[in-house]
Amino acid sequence: MDIPIRILIIEDSETDRELLLHELKRGGYIVEYLCVETAEAMNAALDLQEWDIIISDYSLPHFDGLSALKIVKKRNIDIPFILVSGTIGEELAVQAMKEGVSDYMMKGNLNRMVPAIERELKDAKIRVQSKLAEAALKESEIRFRVLAESAPVGIFTTDAHGSTEYVNPRWSEISKLSFGEALKDGWLNAVHPEDREKLALNWQQSTLNNTESKAEYRFVHPDGTEAWVIGNAVPQEDKNGNIVGYIGTITDITERKKMEAELIVAKENAEESDRLKTAFLQNISHEIRTPLNSIVGFSRIIADTELSDETFDNYATIIENSSTHLMSIIDDIIQIATIEAGQEKIHGAEISINSLCTLMYDRFATNARIQNISLLCNTVLGEDEAYILTDDSKLTQVLNNLIRNALKFTKHGFVSFGYQVVGSALKFFVEDTGIGIAPEMHEKIFKRFRQVESTATRNFGGSGLGLAISKSNVELLGGRIWVESEIGKGSKFYFTIPYSPTRVEKPEIISMEHLIVDLPNNLKILIVEDEKAVDIYLSLVLKSIGVEILHAKNGVDAVAICRKRPDFDLILMDIKIPVMNGYEAVREIRKFNSDVIIIAQTAYALSGDREKSIEAGCNDYITKPINRNTLYEMLRRYFSV
Ligand code: ADP
Repeated sequence: MDIPIRILIIEDSETDRELLLHELKRGGYIVEYLCVETAEAMNAALDLQEWDIIISDYSLPHFDGLSALKIVKKRNIDIPFILVSGTIGEELAVQAMKEGVSDYMMKGNLNRMVPAIERELKDAKIRVQSKLAEAALKESEIRFRVLAESAPVGIFTTDAHGSTEYVNPRWSEISKLSFGEALKDGWLNAVHPEDREKLALNWQQSTLNNTESKAEYRFVHPDGTEAWVIGNAVPQEDKNGNIVGYIGTITDITERKKMEAELIVAKENAEESDRLKTAFLQNISHEIRTPLNSIVGFSRIIADTELSDETFDNYATIIENSSTHLMSIIDDIIQIATIEAGQEKIHGAEISINSLCTLMYDRFATNARIQNISLLCNTVLGEDEAYILTDDSKLTQVLNNLIRNALKFTKHGFVSFGYQVVGSALKFFVEDTGIGIAPEMHEKIFKRFRQVESTATRNFGGSGLGLAISKSNVELLGGRIWVESEIGKGSKFYFTIPYSPTRVEKPEIISMEHLIVDLPNNLKILIVEDEKAVDIYLSLVLKSIGVEILHAKNGVDAVAICRKRPDFDLILMDIKIPVMNGYEAVREIRKFNSDVIIIAQTAYALSGDREKSIEAGCNDYITKPINRNTLYEMLRRYFSV
């Protein structure tokens, strides 16, 4: 066999030692040994190297076996210790075993020595291995704790039945449950009630089937906030394959969930916006074509056919109405673009809201009469209190949109509008007995392009911009707008604006129809316009008040004519003209003529144009297409007789 072995022999008899060595050699051992007889020598030998086994005589002249055993114990070393003696009795042997010797035998019976050594070495090896395993386990436990305590994910362990035994600090941080509260099934208390039952069932199933489990669920914190987590647990087996428990993690995915939700909303919004834009383009194309068809169609008829005066007037009215309609659509589109660019501004002026209501009434009375709908106007303030500082055109536009819609969506009954004073606000209303609006659309209709009807089923025209513009206008004026309505029960639109009366003297209210009567008929007028049709139109409109009308097609000509003729009373200056634009031409003219009244006219209804015109030296500003009455009213301010 030739097994190497290191033996520390405690023996004073050379013969006995030789007998022992002989026995071991016979048993197949190659022995490396040291023989000592005293405690000092034994300690020195133990310091010197490691030994596989100690074989000690029971009694020596200066030492004995039990003292030798004590030294081993004291040094806390695990070496098999075999006691041999020529004299040891049964009692002493029992006591020696109690003290901790591994075996004992009589010197005359050493044939038991080899099997005893074999057995002791084997036992010692097992002891060493299990100690190593124990140490390794302890070390791995420590490692687990350190990892778990500092891990950025929540960690928990359970017993074989799924009952929680441990949670790490991060787990407590995510769930807001303490270690103690989480134990056993306590953790379930923090789970969102909507997720709890399903999760508990899931967990029960996994622990019954000893399978891995995965789940996404929510914790609810004591302050009501929620945390989304993704949980994952795997079974733990011992070396025989028995489930001893589960180890799991939870990862906080609240931020991810939030981002996912935001992304979904953003995607839906993008899709919605895309869909609305397509619908808008289809609508708008239809909306523009309708009046355009009338304009083109009737213009041709007027040009090509002999018509009675009455028919001619009727057709002309149709063309005019269609043009106005077309202009309002284009204005809306331009305005929504300005709103979206954040460029829309307000221009404060003093107005009478009573006059505004009257104006609205006049504007819609005929339409209402034709539709057989009663139009009612309610003003509650006295004339003196009805003056406020606001943006006249924006307020007019809002009321105009709401009343126009009310008439559009009402077949029978009435449309009533007006205002009330509520605290420091004016609360306007426009009520109708029309088709009504379902509650889920009450907010949506104020978004651009939104219409209650889808494109395919439209019974009513419209671009879907009116209310979006109205909302933006009202908000710019410092108020808010909303609707109360039910399907089939009519609608009531409300909006507020601040009310701070600016009591001023009541201006004279002038009837538009009479404006022309008050105007002179001897004005010298220059029309600066490159479009022939507009030039002809303006010539017609101004014919009755002008004694002389001259024409220029560009800015340079206009300046040249003005230099030659310092006696013009009025210049109607188109802004978008070739060679030199209207602003520049006005600046030039103002260098030598500060008296002539210059009115700018542009095709763009962009806010800010008025300011630019005034800045360039114009007295006033008018938007194309030029309404005859608006122009007369304006001229009356400068030339009334
Ligand atoms: P449109 O040009 O399409 O009328 P608006 O922005 O003015 O655009 O209105 C948006 C939608 O709101 C309309 O298409 C209509 O469906 C609904 N709506 C507006 N006013 C009324 C009303 N008085 N009665 C019923 N529905 C209305």
